[in-house]
Amino acid sequence: METIPHRIDGVADFDPEGRTAPVYDPATGARTSHVALADGATVDAAVSAASQAFEDWSTTSISRRTKLLFSFRNLVEDHVDDLARVITSQHGKTLDDARGEVARGIENIEFACGIGEHLKGAFSHQVSNGVDVHTIRQPLGVVAGITPFNFPAMVPLWMLPNAIATGNTFVLKPSERDPGAAMLLAELFAEAGFPNGVLNVVHGDKEAVDGLLTHPDVRAVSFVGSTPVARYVHATATAHGKRVQALGGAKNHMVVLPDADVDLAADAAVSAGFGSAGERCMAISVVVAVGSVGDALVEAISERVARIRVGPGTEPGVEMGPLVTEDHRNRVAGYVAAGAEAGAEVVVDGRDLLDQAGFFLGPTLLDRVTPDMTVYTDEIFGPVLSVVRVDSYPAAMALLEANPYANGTAIFTRDGGAARRFQDEVPVGMVGVNVPIPVPVGSHSFGGWKDSLFGDTHMYGPEGIRFYTRAKAITTRWPDPADSSVDLGFPRNA
Ligand code: NAD
Repeated sequence: METIPHRIDGVADFDPEGRTAPVYDPATGARTSHVALADGATVDAAVSAASQAFEDWSTTSISRRTKLLFSFRNLVEDHVDDLARVITSQHGKTLDDARGEVARGIENIEFACGIGEHLKGAFSHQVSNGVDVHTIRQPLGVVAGITPFNFPAMVPLWMLPNAIATGNTFVLKPSERDPGAAMLLAELFAEAGFPNGVLNVVHGDKEAVDGLLTHPDVRAVSFVGSTPVARYVHATATAHGKRVQALGGAKNHMVVLPDADVDLAADAAVSAGFGSAGERCMAISVVVAVGSVGDALVEAISERVARIRVGPGTEPGVEMGPLVTEDHRNRVAGYVAAGAEAGAEVVVDGRDLLDQAGFFLGPTLLDRVTPDMTVYTDEIFGPVLSVVRVDSYPAAMALLEANPYANGTAIFTRDGGAARRFQDEVPVGMVGVNVPIPVPVGSHSFGGWKDSLFGDTHMYGPEGIRFYTRAKAITTRWPDPADSSVDLGFPRNA
């Protein structure tokens, strides 16, 4: 059985005596390969390769960097189907959904292709007599990216294009559950002509992550994953002097006001709740039905849920694939049982697929969920949509304010004033108005608030450029030596 190797300084390799983890095809449940798990020495080798590459890469011209990024962008587009096949075979999502994630990843390479524009500094002429000031932004050095299983191509592409375009070198630690997409991206990156060592991939678990978080030569860490690990990554890496952005988990609410178009809201809730089997950080997991809309909305959602076609992600016509691992599938099914036990009404029960081969759980709809139930309090990350009924807009807002997660939230209404009030008041990082999954395009930035993000900057787009660079302000004058004298006063810029 194949062992998926690391890729360090352009060489794919692994220690045959080292630890490995199994990789599964979630649609069949079969173990299809192993992935090498890096120890400290492997992490050191990757960071050292990146450190050496930094010397030349950070001084490579912007036009050369841009040419390579364009070529990488085109190679990724040419290989969308290959990437999708790899993603589906290890993650389980449908091929169409996998192609979609690659397309959203390409947006980030395209943004980085404009690096000449993004890295323009500022210049102030004649701030004092014969004195000019300009600011530039310089790369940090070696930066690390640690990514989750649910977007094995897109999330690495949230990070590495901007990091590398700005002159840094990169060590990527992808999820050990579906490491194949990162390897293919690294191969395309090399084919595009980037020098060895600019992008390195090490696979692994906590040991590899800890190696990166504490390594003295890693200057910054970008992390995306669950909230407990995000909190840990932020605390550990900042304690080791690094700049950190750590994006965590989510519990995204979709508020449906009584005036909303019920069919439109139901279509959106089902698409956003069950796409990728609910394994999206921006998936809708709670529908908040306000006032009189509850009965009609639950009926419209349940009709649609019953029609979702579940099966292997490679089969034409299938809309929802399996979950990523058996453990995860069983954990999600456990939440359904706990919700029912606690008094939620199971309107559609997906647990009838539990006996089938592969890690399947059918789409599940729970009504009359209350905020004390674990199905509400915890991030489930599976195909389970909960409906919470409230009697007013303030009650819906109170739920959102009390929730520790604050990634994305949507409102469905035909009232522009209500939507505008909601966008201003809601304490989350990303808001959709009649848009259930408001993932910003690559020219904006992505990030939540509260327990959905630890750190100060959102990811990719303009905030990504800021995160991967540090500012330098340069004050210049070319005085006539004849006018020079000793002056111990503080410069007043008169
Ligand atoms: P995870 O937290 O289990 O793993 C993320 C990464 O951290 C992986 O590379 C993993 O190897 C590593 N890791 C896991 N446990 C660790 C530990 N104890 N110490 C150090 N490193 C560890 O997340 P996941 O299950 O791969 O992904 C799903 C989670 O990611 C969900 O919570 C989802 O909401 C979140 N997510 C968030 C966003 C966002 O933008 N906010 C995007 C995608 C996914």
